Parts: sequence; structure tokens; C-alpha cells
Amino acid sequence: MQEEAQVVIIGAGAMGAGLFYYLAHEGWTDTLLIEKGELSSGSTWHAAGLIPHFIGSLNMAKNHKVAADLYPALEAETGMNGGWHETGAIRLALDQDQVDWFKYVHGIMELVDNESYLLEPKQILEHWPFMDVSDVKMGFHTPNDGWADPSMSSAAMVAGGRQLGAKVHKHTLVTETNQLPDGRWEVITDKGRVVCEHLVNAAGCYAPQVGAMAGIDVPIVSVIHQYLITEPMKEITDLGSFQPPIVRDPRASAYYRREIDSLLVGPYERENAQVYGIEGIDWDKHFYLTPPDLDQLMPWLIEAGNRVPAFQEAGIKTVISGPITHTPDSGFLMGPATGHNNYWHCSGASIGVTQGPGAGKYLAQWMVHGQTEINVAEMDPRRFGDHCGPKGRYAKDKAIDEFHEMYATRLPGEQRFAGRPQKADTIYDRLDAKGAQWQEIFGWERPQYFGEAEAHSFRRSNAFDAVAAEVKGTREIAGIADLSAFAKFEVTGSDAGSFLERMAANKMPVKPGGMRLTHFLTTLGGIEAEMTVTKLADDRYYLNSGITSEFHDRDWLVHHIAADEEVTVTDVTEDKGILAVAGPKSRDILSSLTDVDLTNESFRWLTGQEIVVADVPVTALRVSYVGELGWELHCPMEQLPQLYDAIVAVGEPMGMVHYGAYAMNCMRIEKAYKAMGSELTTEITPVEADLGRFVNYDLDFQGKAAAQERLAQGDDIEMILVYCSVDTANNDPRGNEPVYYDGELVGLTTSGTFGHSVGTSLAFAYVDPKCKAPGTDLEIKMMDEMRPAKILADAAYDPANEKPRA
Ligand SMILES: Cc1cc2nc3c(=O)[nH]c(=O)nc-3n(C[C@H](O)[C@H](O)[C@H](O)COP(=O)(O)OP(=O)(O)OC[C@H]3O[C@@H](n4cnc5c(N)ncnc54)[C@H](O)[C@@H]3O)c2cc1C
Repeated sequence: MQEEAQVVIIGAGAMGAGLFYYLAHEGWTDTLLIEKGELSSGSTWHAAGLIPHFIGSLNMAKNHKVAADLYPALEAETGMNGGWHETGAIRLALDQDQVDWFKYVHGIMELVDNESYLLEPKQILEHWPFMDVSDVKMGFHTPNDGWADPSMSSAAMVAGGRQLGAKVHKHTLVTETNQLPDGRWEVITDKGRVVCEHLVNAAGCYAPQVGAMAGIDVPIVSVIHQYLITEPMKEITDLGSFQPPIVRDPRASAYYRREIDSLLVGPYERENAQVYGIEGIDWDKHFYLTPPDLDQLMPWLIEAGNRVPAFQEAGIKTVISGPITHTPDSGFLMGPATGHNNYWHCSGASIGVTQGPGAGKYLAQWMVHGQTEINVAEMDPRRFGDHCGPKGRYAKDKAIDEFHEMYATRLPGEQRFAGRPQKADTIYDRLDAKGAQWQEIFGWERPQYFGEAEAHSFRRSNAFDAVAAEVKGTREIAGIADLSAFAKFEVTGSDAGSFLERMAANKMPVKPGGMRLTHFLTTLGGIEAEMTVTKLADDRYYLNSGITSEFHDRDWLVHHIAADEEVTVTDVTEDKGILAVAGPKSRDILSSLTDVDLTNESFRWLTGQEIVVADVPVTALRVSYVGELGWELHCPMEQLPQLYDAIVAVGEPMGMVHYGAYAMNCMRIEKAYKAMGSELTTEITPVEADLGRFVNYDLDFQGKAAAQERLAQGDDIEMILVYCSVDTANNDPRGNEPVYYDGELVGLTTSGTFGHSVGTSLAFAYVDPKCKAPGTDLEIKMMDEMRPAKILADAAYDPANEKPRA
């Protein structure tokens, strides 16, 4: 074995093979793919190989499309057949929620340029004449779907990488991985040692064991899935050479496809799913299967028999049973390992034959260029906190729940309760008693709103009125919110200021007490992070960002400290609680609990002071994400109850309300505040995001040259962010809806809400710059209906920004 390589990939399943192929195509050919068995001898070989385009996430839809485009093309490039069978697919909707979801996904398909049709039930019979569709309300047809023989497609991808010079070592077991003092990785195998710059864990079900070699918790638990193949069935042979579309049926929680003259049926049981290998899997397993257990599937097979009555009489020829990797949200892991330089994950796919090529393509871009062409936040491994270890309750309960839900329809705002609560802060019980409806974010419990449990829907739900009251109360009197679920860092040291100035796109505060919202860019100008920076002393800064970015932002800061800089980044997220008190009466409420003068003269907007409120030491920041006069009070977590009780005791008699994440989102959009993750993402530069005064081109900062280059393009850029009012019926924009101008598709929404204070729906959208002018009439396709929208010049609420300065 060679002694050095630029990249070592551990594992040659669909995920490792996809990366191997695309890294070579990005120009990195000094790559070694190490596999302990044969190619695809892990989970990949026994997969049913179905490749769905249908998915409710825009970026995952882009990911899935990569496989369906690549597999048919591999033969021409490599001479090896990619095993592709284009049959199309139909998913069944059985109730109104599922119909609404189909209409939403129909828009996503349009955005990613995937052909799709909404079918009447009788049209399904044209494809499957012997299927019962009596309970079906709608079919979603994606004619370009299909299935791939997973061994053939993986082998062809590996061939594509090899042709360009990358190398494969089969029958080679990785036994140890160590980071060397120079940052490179040493990989010990049973055939020798290799040192590489980048190490990729693509070890499938073994990924937690391989991660453990480097002390890395990989949040993956494997769950057993089975499919069966019938004896030949007359109904199938009667189809002649016709290959009917694969069908996905939520009632049986199963897929059906033709397999030669037989029917292949794969249910994801919705109860009692069995996990596999949590304590470790023997290294010498190759092409292994788990023992079939049809009893486990019986309720779902009975439903399958109701859907395809002929199946009830068919004999069973084969049962395939094997483990599938599941992360706590069933998305795969693609990107850097938390806290480790140049260690990458490429694993955890629950449909890896579908997702391997896309994961490979975008991870290769990330490794080679430092940035991807799509937003990969929902694939970034750092979206999982340290509560997600593979041997813990959370990872297991979530994996099982995600497996049960494979064919369920997730409704907007819907919460799953498996594995929770993980991080309930010190006022959880108090907020629960107030009627908090909880959402989980990065392990933290956070109120969505206060009131009766939500009957979730793609239409306006019963939460609508509760949120309206929270918004009104906050805007007219005052509101209190628990914002403890935000990331909090202290950046200290003699070079802290110059370090932040070098990285941040905005001018950093000069005097202690100063505060700035700033963005951090990649070298290509992409928006990598957004943080509020408060200068507490010349050598002490306090930084806040969204909680889902905690590990991402911490790594981003730490990895950019130069060797000669004296800077320390301390993550104080868990140590501090945050209460926001906002609204016209917030000053009165807080003034009665502190000796500090809170008037404009002594405590200006966008400044911070370390003060005492209700005998609790707090870092008080005069800032409000809801656009009102207000303060955020950051205090020791154990003293949060004391602070909360004191504020509630004074505030509630004055009419102060509690508000949750729904109301906060509504109010931030009414103020036209952009959010990291929806409007602001890594593949977007400050120019498209129209960040204006938040970027100071007079300064030097990472990513400036690239952003400036984009700025010079003027209206020749691909898209620009606009803000609009939308005329809606009983549903509001939520993001990823197609936007039209004059009948032409010109962009997509990124987020939206009903603006309770302004009486209209509002949305942000990226559109072709030719239609960016305020006053322009657009149309937004929501639930398959065109709704009129108009671009606004300013925030819908308080455009002069007088309220926060009051
Ligand atoms: C019954 C069944 C049906 C399925 N149907 C579908 C489907 O229709 N569509 C779909 O998209 N997906 C399907 N899947 C899921 C799919 O099989 C997996 O998501 C996918 O194979 C995961 O690929 P991977 O590369 O992550 O893992 P694997 O294929 O398991 O690859 C990991 C590789 O790493 C190697 N390795 C591990 N540790 C080491 C080490 N220390 N040293 C060297 N090598 C190592 C292993 O030998 C293995 O080959 C199905 C799965 C099952 C079980």
C-alpha cells in the first residue's frame, strides 16, 4: 500500500463510491478507497435500489436528482453498466394532509426541474390495473424515477474514479485512525499504514465504530429493514414487457415494484422496529443479511395484500433482511466532524443508493473548494449536538421513530417526542405550566407558542389565533421569551479584537458595550455564519448565533485562529440562560428590577452592559429580534428561574404576554429581518442576500474579494433577495415555493408567515434581478395555486425603525 495519499475514504458502499467518483471529477485523484470486503459488500448490495425524486426538502430533492442523472450516464463514461431501470414512481395520498403535501412537493419538483404530475386515482389504474385505489385521493407521479442494481451502480462509480487515477484497496481493514501533530491523519490497516490530509468515514453501519477510533461520536443507529419477492404472479406476467412505476403506499408503509415476473414488497413497519449492532458489529461480516422475520411485518403485509389483492395469494420466494443506517432525523451525514480538522463524514443514509451520488458530489465540492453549490445545512453532521451519541437513548429512540415514520407525512411544525426531553432548561416547568407547546431544537426544548396543542396542517392551524395574541400582546404591551436555546461564545485574549476584525464582514464595535450584527464569509464569499458580537472589554467579546449553528460556528471560529494569535473561544451555551423582554412596556418592567438607568441616554439601542436585574448578574443587550424596544438578559443558567419569576411578577400585571418561536418568526419577518438558514446560506453571498450596510467593503475580511467581485456584476447576478406581501387564502408561505413574474418561473421563497400586526402574508424570495424593483407584481405558487404577491420596499412593520430606538 502507498504510504501517503491526499484523501483516504473508509468504506466502498454507495456513499463511499459516490464520493470517490466525484472527488476524482473535482480533480482530486490522489484518493485511496479502503474497503474491508468487496465493493458494496456492506448494506449496499442488498438494497432494493429504488431512487425516489419525491421528497419534501428542496436541497434533498437536488441531492436525489444527482443519482437519477448519474446512474444512466455511467455506462457511456466508464463502460460499466450502472444498473439503471427507469420505471417512474407513484406515491399515494390517502387523506387531505397528504394531498396538501403533494401540492407543496409539486412546487419543489418544479424548482429542481423534475417532471411530476398529480394523478387522479383512476389514472393510477392505467399503470397498475390490479391495484386497489378505492381509498386513494391522489397519486404523485414522477416519471423519471427508477431503481438501480446497487452493486452495479456502485461498481460503475468506483470505475469512474479509477479511470481518473484514484485507487482502491479491497480486503483491507482499517483498525486505527490517529491525528498527527501536523494535522494529517494516520490510517492503520491490516495491510499497512497510510498518512493522508483528509480522512473520510464512509463506513456505513460501522461508521460509529470507525468514528470511535478517533474519539468521534457518530450519531447513527442501524435499524433492520426487510423486503420480500413473491413467486411469479400471473397479474405481473400479464403486464408483458411493461415496467410499471414503483408505488409507495403510506397505508401499508410499503413500496411495491415489479421484479421480473414477481412483485417486490418492502414495508417499513410502524411499530417495534429492531435495531442492529449498537454494541458493535464484527469486522468480518461481508455480504451479510439478518434473519428474515415475516411476523414482524405481518400487519403491514396484510395492508399490502389489501392494496394488491393478488399478493394475498402469492407465494414468497425470497426475503431480504438487512440493517440500514439512521441518524436522529434520518438525513445522512455529509461534512466535517465536530471539533476535528479534516475528518469528514459520509454515512448515515437511510436510502444510500439514492443519496450516495449526491452526498459524494456535494462533499467533494466542500472538500475541494471549501463550499458547496447547494445549501447543505440539513446534511451537515454538526446539526447534531453532543446528546446524539450512538449508544445513548436519544439516537436509538430517534432512529426507531424515524424508521417507523419512513412513509408518514410530516406536517409543518409537527414534533416527534421520541428521545425527549434532552435539554430542558431551568424554567422548563414554569413555561410548561403556562401552556408551552414544545419544539426540539438541537436537543433543547423551546416553546413554539402557548395554548392548546396544535392540530398540525399545511393550512392555518389552531395555533394561528394563539400566535396572533402573542404578537399583539408583545407589540402593544410587552412579551417575554425564553431564548436560552441560542449559541453563546466568549472570545477572549489580546488578539480577540483583531481576530474578529479579520474574519467579520461588518465593522467590529470599537468601545466596550458596542454591539454589531455581522456575517462571516467563506473565501468564496458564501455566508458561513451570522453572529451578534458585543464587546465587553478590549480583550473580551460575547458572540451569539442560532443554536443549530453552535458546533458549526464554534469550529468555524476555532479553526480560523492563526498560530500566532492569542485568542480563546469558550462555548458558554449551556452555562447561560437568556430571557428576551420586548415591547413598549419592557423598559418600565425592567426598570423596576434594576438600579441601572435604562433610558436612551444611558443605555442606547444596540449596546450591551453587565448589570444586575432582580439580584441576578446579567449581560443585558439592548437588541430585539422582534423589532421592539427590548432587552435580552443573559444570566447564569441556574439563576434563570429567579430572573424569570421577578420579571413575570412585575410584567404580567401590566399585561405582559409569553411568546414562542412561531410569534418570533412572524415578528422578525414583519420587520424584514433575514434569518440564517433560510435567507442566508453558504451558497449565497452578501450581494444576493442584499446585506447592504452589514458589509463594510472598506475593511479587510475573509471573503471580501469574492463578494466584491459579485458586487461588480450588478444585475448580472443570478438572483437577489426580495421581500413581499402575499395575498393568501387559508395558508401562508413557508419557503421553497416557486415564484413567477409574467408567467415565467423566476425564483423561490425562502420563508414566510402571516404578519399578524400588518394583516397580510409576507415572504422573502430569491428572484431574477430583472424583477427586483419594489412594487413589482409577482405570483407565488402555494399548494398548487397561484397567489398574487408584491415586492415591498421596506419592512411591513415599523419601516422607519422607530420602535426599537424608543
Ligand atoms: C433491505 C434493504 C433495502 C434497501 N432498499 C433501498 C432502496 O431501495 N433505495 C435506497 O436508496 N437505499 C436502500 N437501502 C439502504 C441502503 O442500502 C443504504 O442506505 C446504503 O447501502 C448505505 O450505504 P453506505 O455506503 O453508507 O454503507 P455500506 O454499503 O454498508 O458501506 C460501508 C462499507 O464500509 C466498509 N467498512 C466498514 N468499516 C470498515 C473498516 N474498518 N475498514 C474498511 N472498510 C470498512 C464496509 O465493509 C462496507 O462495505 C436498503 C437497505 C436495506 C437493508
